[in-house]
Amino acid sequence: MNETTESPAVKLTGLTKSFGANQVVQPLDLEIGRNEFFSILGPSGCGKTTLMRMITGFETPSGGSVELDGKNVDSVPTKSRDLNMLFQSYALFPHLSVYENVAFELRVRRTPKREIDGRVQDALALVRLQAFAERKPAELSGGQRQRVALARAVVGRPAVVLLDEPLGALDQKLRKEMQFELKRMQREVGITFIYVTHDQEEALTMSDRIAVMSEGRVLQVASPTEIYDAPASRFVATFIGSCNVLDGAVSADGRGVVVPGLGELNAAVPADARPGSGVTLAIRPERVTLSPATTVAATAPLGGVAGTLVERVFLGDEWTFHVRLDSDVVMTVSVPSGQAAAALGAIPDGAPVLLSWAAADARVLPA
Ligand code: ATP
Repeated sequence: MNETTESPAVKLTGLTKSFGANQVVQPLDLEIGRNEFFSILGPSGCGKTTLMRMITGFETPSGGSVELDGKNVDSVPTKSRDLNMLFQSYALFPHLSVYENVAFELRVRRTPKREIDGRVQDALALVRLQAFAERKPAELSGGQRQRVALARAVVGRPAVVLLDEPLGALDQKLRKEMQFELKRMQREVGITFIYVTHDQEEALTMSDRIAVMSEGRVLQVASPTEIYDAPASRFVATFIGSCNVLDGAVSADGRGVVVPGLGELNAAVPADARPGSGVTLAIRPERVTLSPATTVAATAPLGGVAGTLVERVFLGDEWTFHVRLDSDVVMTVSVPSGQAAAALGAIPDGAPVLLSWAAADARVLPA
């Protein structure tokens, strides 16, 4: 592969957007690779859709530029950009069959007739709807209609497909199925997918890389595992998955973090951290070990912090334990159902417990 010498599918340089005095996208630089499944993830109102609309050309940027496949498209209208879009409200033509819905764009573009049939069949095979070609949209389930819309988005083989919360209208089970299906389809067609969502699980499941946005800014761009294991900020740590956060300061010897009311805690303090500087400690619930307060010796090597077991919640595949620390902060510990959780069953609610973790699992983030 010679991808290093190829231009990225999408390159944004200093791209920004204001509506009046309201700057909803702060100047940002971003490169999205060819054949990448790239998600833009952030809470409602953070600017995801506006960013996407600037890539498509529906929205004119207030500054900066958009390149597609190495070419500046700032003055290229949407219909002439080599991309397509898929929205949650995927309006299919009700009077046309599935086949004709998918073929529609090719007919408009005056694609040669003999080519149309092959392309439509390929697109229907991709979404596994060959047997439904003659049905009307009203005769399909919500998930099947969604697949037709996807077939329609890829049939013209654009370089980039932008998907704005396309699974929002589907129920939970179908959503999960479609997440895997979308990823499979993206691999099969080899088109760059830019996927806009506020659902962190969706982004983690499907993406090659994720850009996490908040208040118009891209806070971190990384792979799902990196975003989860090495969040760069408190916002990213708590927005993606659940995370315990404790405020404190780097200890005098620079080896731990001192949290008011709890003393010095085990932490992965970066070598360049200034002693005394304010930081946030971020620890995933599944990285915390919960033990009865009597096993001090066993947990001592990992450093322990005392607390009281408040309650436990059964979530099917795991148990969540809530532990109130002496500082009154409540920490969450998750334990897979089965043996590990069963072993903790003997600890009654209200009992004193110890929490511990490996230093590497307590990430030190800017306060
Ligand atoms: P959601 O997930 O709810 O769709 P989003 O992250 O996609 O949200 P945007 O739709 O990009 O967010 O909106 C970002 C901000 O820009 C919001 O505060 C919104 O009110 C504002 N905004 C969007 N479009 C316009 C417009 N045409 N005129 C004025 N303000 C706008």
